[in-house]
Amino acid sequence: MSAPLLRIQDLRVEYASPRGPVQAVAGVSLTLNRNRILGLVGESGCGKSTVGQALMGLIQSPGRIAGGDIRFEDKSLIGLPEREMRKLRGDRLSMIFQDPTATLNPVLTIGDQIAELFRWHRPQMRRREVQARVTALLERVGIIDADRRRRAYPHELSGGMRQRVVIACALALEPALIVADEPTTALDVTVQAQILDLLRGLQSEHGTAVILVSHDLGVIAETCDDVAVMYAGRVVESGPADEVLARPRHPYTAGLIASRPSFGAPDHVVRPIPGTVPDLARPPAGCAFHPRCQKAVAACRDAIPTLSPIREEPRHAVACPLAA
Ligand code: SF4
Repeated sequence: MSAPLLRIQDLRVEYASPRGPVQAVAGVSLTLNRNRILGLVGESGCGKSTVGQALMGLIQSPGRIAGGDIRFEDKSLIGLPEREMRKLRGDRLSMIFQDPTATLNPVLTIGDQIAELFRWHRPQMRRREVQARVTALLERVGIIDADRRRRAYPHELSGGMRQRVVIACALALEPALIVADEPTTALDVTVQAQILDLLRGLQSEHGTAVILVSHDLGVIAETCDDVAVMYAGRVVESGPADEVLARPRHPYTAGLIASRPSFGAPDHVVRPIPGTVPDLARPPAGCAFHPRCQKAVAACRDAIPTLSPIREEPRHAVACPLAA
């Protein structure tokens, strides 16, 4: 069996603050194979975007990687010089952010922005070849009349079109892994479905692996092969997406499903999870979910539960001794 494309082991990321270090990621381990889509899901402030940023080498001061390892294509990314990391970004790794307006340069045409990637990473390509690739990429992401549209500026396009351009940029150099951080959150439902279809199609066509960061379980259920549910900087449940979402074991995953309006059966009653995510400068002792957990017992405050496979399905793991 070939080595996984990505292996994250015991990753810890913290941010300095006047109140002490904020542990945004507190020991996350994940594995991702080629041609798979892994969803990272959880409420805001649970560390899922930070995992994506750490992978892309985008953690900036006052943040730092406090421990663990990220191995991509069997090479450790931790401590890689910025020049090497910049070469990997775009070429083998790329990222799609939530807001295409912030990602695209307003003073460059969309065609020039994509062409810039080829000039930087593929300097041997001729101008005409680059133009043909740019047009082909725009067509592939569903931009109609691509040869004319490549001369448009970002402000001349709709939000959905801009996000397609961002996806074209992410795909330009045929990376092995794309991190998509809430790529459809800013879009209306119809465009959201089109963009998710596009991501799925591109993944199966090119064999690209995708990490999809989302707070939306519906998006994860529709798009992902596997899911990792994050709470307070840790993975609390993981496994095949259909298995985890159909038979959640961790009270937090069950709570996320219960709190989503249109997820599950037609007679589904929405029940929000009481309370809020904890302050990661002072996380609760033991299981960080205990102040919100309806199943908590006194022992839940004693130790941080480890992620362990369940007996019936070894690919399904849960960090709750009572649920496992
Ligand atoms: Fe709830 Fe305890 Fe399980 Fe944490 S360990 S999820 S508090 S039952």
